Amino acid sequence: MLKVKNLHASIEDKEILKGINLEINPGEVHAIMGPNGSGKSTLSSVIAGREEYEMTEGEMMFEGEDLNELDPEERAHKGVFLSFQYPVEIPGVSVTNFIKTAINSHRKAKGEPDMPANDMLKMIREKSEMLEIDRKFLSRSLNQGFSGGEKKRNEIFQMAMLEPKLSILDETDSGLDIDALKIVANGVNKLRSKDNAVLLITHYQRLLDYIVPDYVHVLVDGKIVKSGGKELAYELEERGYDWVKQETV
Ligand code: ADP
Ligand code: MG
Ligand code: MG
Repeated sequence: MLKVKNLHASIEDKEILKGINLEINPGEVHAIMGPNGSGKSTLSSVIAGREEYEMTEGEMMFEGEDLNELDPEERAHKGVFLSFQYPVEIPGVSVTNFIKTAINSHRKAKGEPDMPANDMLKMIREKSEMLEIDRKFLSRSLNQGFSGGEKKRNEIFQMAMLEPKLSILDETDSGLDIDALKIVANGVNKLRSKDNAVLLITHYQRLLDYIVPDYVHVLVDGKIVKSGGKELAYELEERGYDWVKQETV
């Protein structure tokens, strides 16, 4: 699904990613861990196509297409979803209306007509029930006065509705409380399938107690210095990142 080869990327002429190789297949959950400032968010932003970041070398293919030739919106239409990125408040636009617009804009890009209102309502009902989201929440203004947990709930709801092929969840380093963490984990676990994939970026091992990844990669100073299975996350929790750095020097 996603093939990243020797990816180098810079911000304001400062090289942040220094040769990333990563391959993600349908059905897989990959976790990227690493110390603060190692380039985790840069990697997610470059895959999603945020403009501040310049890819200077390498290759990023998504289902055989060169991602670098697509703008962020086109990448989203192809099924690349970057969450935890837009905590914008939009007064007067409800959670439901926002997602309706997003879904219809994806359909339009594929040359499809708007989703019939009945189908949309049915889908909203099914997904919100699956994620245990109550109706009152759906009519609130987007992100306005949302708690940390409500922001996560909204993001997971967006992911459920958009049914992306690849979801990139960049968990910021600012402390998630346990409830917010469980909302993310339950959502991701319910939405996992053999056809979609998740790239879970996190500073914290704790999230991986709830979402069991197939692969764990450790990013240090712009490079993946170690990859392994889920047990690597536990090893990192016990031993920190220094031993990984030393092993690779
Ligand atoms: P992480 O998510 O692993 O904490 P980031 O990708 O956010 O790491 O940051 C990697 C490096 O890039 C850091 O040294 C950070 O200071 C720098 N950086 C990130 N975003 C910007 C930006 N917009 N402008 C300048 N430097 C940035
Ligand atoms: Mg950071
Ligand atoms: Mg980050």
